[in-house]
Amino acid sequence: MKVNYGGFVDLSTKDWPGRAVCTVFFRGCPLRCSYCHNATIQIGRDEREIDEIIAMIDEARHLVSGIIFSGGEPTMQPEPLCALARVAKERGLLVGLQTNGFFPDTLNLLIKERLVDRIALDYKTRWEGYSKRWEGYAGTCEADYSRQVRRSIAICEDARMSGKLPEFEIVLTIFWGNEREILEIANHLPRGNLVLQQGVHKRFWKEWTGPGTVNGNARIHENQVSGERVPLTYEDLARIAESMKRLGRIIKIRTRNGGEVVYESDRGRWPACQR
Ligand code: SF4
Repeated sequence: MKVNYGGFVDLSTKDWPGRAVCTVFFRGCPLRCSYCHNATIQIGRDEREIDEIIAMIDEARHLVSGIIFSGGEPTMQPEPLCALARVAKERGLLVGLQTNGFFPDTLNLLIKERLVDRIALDYKTRWEGYSKRWEGYAGTCEADYSRQVRRSIAICEDARMSGKLPEFEIVLTIFWGNEREILEIANHLPRGNLVLQQGVHKRFWKEWTGPGTVNGNARIHENQVSGERVPLTYEDLARIAESMKRLGRIIKIRTRNGGEVVYESDRGRWPACQR
């Protein structure tokens, strides 16, 4: 069996809070997010025999207690993904998955076979920046994605509630201008964990069309910015978290400088691994 391979990290202490893991990256993704950190593996082919990946996992095994499948979009390759998850389970590793939620059927497969212990689902909140897609997904639209991701969330939440999926979190990446969508979406999301991630645009800069200020701060037109667009601060994200807190969720805030912390309102900030 072959896998369209994107990369391997033998030790990460960031991808699964509180746990040392190795990470397998799958090449290929149907979306094109403006903030993608792995844009080089969105497309292309690097076919490897699955045994080559298993050898990497075996090499890293003494360092880690879990494995993360990331990408690209790992659920685009259901057969090698499930095969590698089985291998990881046979070796006593916990299995985590980072996904955009576009392929709910693959999530179903993994959950039914109890091959996954943690799913972090990156919910794309705004279609801006996802408009360039190819590799068979050129016709994909916001409605397609929304339908698929809602199915994925329902599958994961159902599994979490019935004890088949120990950890499930939804990641919302926030930029100036998409706070409103975030709040609307959050109203329809289950009560599980939410991660508010500080968005940092990298590609596909757009013309600015929003209002001139938000929360009393002047927006910076992207023509005025050299380099990356200025991201929201922890305080900005905390204000958004405060609006969602009423829904009774655990909310984490993830920023470049502060890492990941559980938002505890006025009770202070705690590292996520000390929950
Ligand atoms: S879904 Fe993930 S891998 Fe795909 S383009 Fe977006 S950030 Fe990159």
